[in-house]
Amino acid sequence: MITRYRCNACGNLTRFDVVETTSVRSFYHFTVGGELSIEEPDVIAKTVDSVTCRWCGHGRNVEEVTEDA
Ligand SMILES: [Zn+2]
Repeated sequence: MITRYRCNACGNLTRFDVVETTSVRSFYHFTVGGELSIEEPDVIAKTVDSVTCRWCGHGRNVEEVTEDA
């Protein structure tokens, strides 16, 4: 299942500004010298804060469309 968006005001299906908040747990691996490499990022929570239609400039008519992948 994938989630798409559709703007019912202009019919846009392809261009949106999406603001989302993502919580990621990562394995921080420091060398003795203090160099960092970040490994195994794991998204533990994702919240979509707003979806705005690029053409209309607002998200008042944007709705989620769920379809089978
Ligand atoms: Zn639109």
